[in-house]
Amino acid sequence: MKGFWINICGVNVVIVIFLGPPGAGKGTKAKKLSDYFEWRHLSTGDLLRNEVKNETELGLLANEFMKKGDLVPDKIIINMISNILVNQNAGIVLDGFPRTIDQARSLRHSLEDISKKIDKVLFLDVEESKIISRLTNRGRKDDDPKVIVNRLKTYGDLTQPLISFYEKEGLIEKIDGNGTEENVFNNLLKVMA
Ligand code: ADP
Repeated sequence: MKGFWINICGVNVVIVIFLGPPGAGKGTKAKKLSDYFEWRHLSTGDLLRNEVKNETELGLLANEFMKKGDLVPDKIIINMISNILVNQNAGIVLDGFPRTIDQARSLRHSLEDISKKIDKVLFLDVEESKIISRLTNRGRKDDDPKVIVNRLKTYGDLTQPLISFYEKEGLIEKIDGNGTEENVFNNLLKVMA
């Protein structure tokens, strides 16, 4: 995937990553933050759900993984987002990507190729009891109790290791995600200052 970010080398490309368990509220916060700064909000989950809705080849394939609460294979994800990032020249909030160490490595190499870097990785920390109640009340197709259990396990096994991966690079900002929408958003703005 060498050079997959090649066209996003605009002058002030701020790159922010949102990390956190399913149901932590990444989607709403990432959208709010990108609206606030007029950056792009790039949610791989939303992109995939759109493909599923339109019954594209990619959507049909991805859905086999999503409905079980498994991750869509890295290659598919990297390929999907590289197409979108072409010509991206404003700030960007990545929501749901990277989600595995391999995705993070791929992103890092591509950024190194063009001398760009990730500015911040925002880790939205939410209590487990809250996560489960949020997920069960959301009503999305993959919010079925059995699928939720697998998504949380997948998060623990494959995504959580990204916290120490980015901690080593000094990029992690831990945000308390348990408060009200307003509270959490203010905490986010503080770390972005
Ligand atoms: P949540 O974080 O609430 O589980 P998302 O909308 O981020 O929801 O993701 C929904 C599903 O889409 C995931 O369970 C997974 O199957 C798939 N998905 C999203 N982003 C990725 C990614 N970067 N890599 C692999 N699969 C992904």
